[in-house]
Amino acid sequence: MDFPLLVSACLVGFRCRYDGKAKRNRQVVAMLEGHEWIPVCPEQAAGLSTPRTPMAFAGGTGVDVLRGTARLLQEDGRDVTNALIEASRFLTQLGKAWGMRIAILKEGSPSCGVTTTCVGEEKVKGKGIFAAFLEAEGIKTFSEETLPHEGKFNDF
Ligand code: SF4
Repeated sequence: MDFPLLVSACLVGFRCRYDGKAKRNRQVVAMLEGHEWIPVCPEQAAGLSTPRTPMAFAGGTGVDVLRGTARLLQEDGRDVTNALIEASRFLTQLGKAWGMRIAILKEGSPSCGVTTTCVGEEKVKGKGIFAAFLEAEGIKTFSEETLPHEGKFNDF
C-alpha cells in the first residue's frame, strides 16, 4: 500500500467526541502500525466545540443529506447540516489531494458512521455525512467493526 489512510481522530485517542472523550480502538491502532495515516474529526473541522451538544439526522441519513432531503440537527434544534457539509467536502478534497483511497471511521456517528448512524434517538443503517462524501468521491470507507484484513488493502 503506497497511500496514506484517513482515520477518525477519536479512534486513535484524540478526545474530540461530543462528550469530550476519545474512543481509542486497539485493533485500529494496531492495524495502522507501519502505515502513514492522518487523523481527522469532521465535527471539529466544522467549527463545533468539544464537548458539544449531540446531533442526529432528521428525514434520512448522510446519503440523503447529499441529495438534499435530510438535515442534521443538534439536540437543542440547531441545524448543523451546512457546517458538516462544508467540513466533509473540505476533508474529502484534502484526502483526495493526498492520494488517500481508504478511510477507517467510527461506526454509529452522524458524521463518520459507515454502516450505522443515528436518526432522532434511533440507531439505523446508513452512513454519516463524512462517510457519504468520501464514498461519493471514491474513497473506500471501513469502520472499527468492518476492518478489512491487512492484505485486502492492496486491492484498493
Ligand atoms: S466519530 Fe468522527 S466526528 Fe465524531 S468525534 Fe470521532 S472523528 Fe469526530
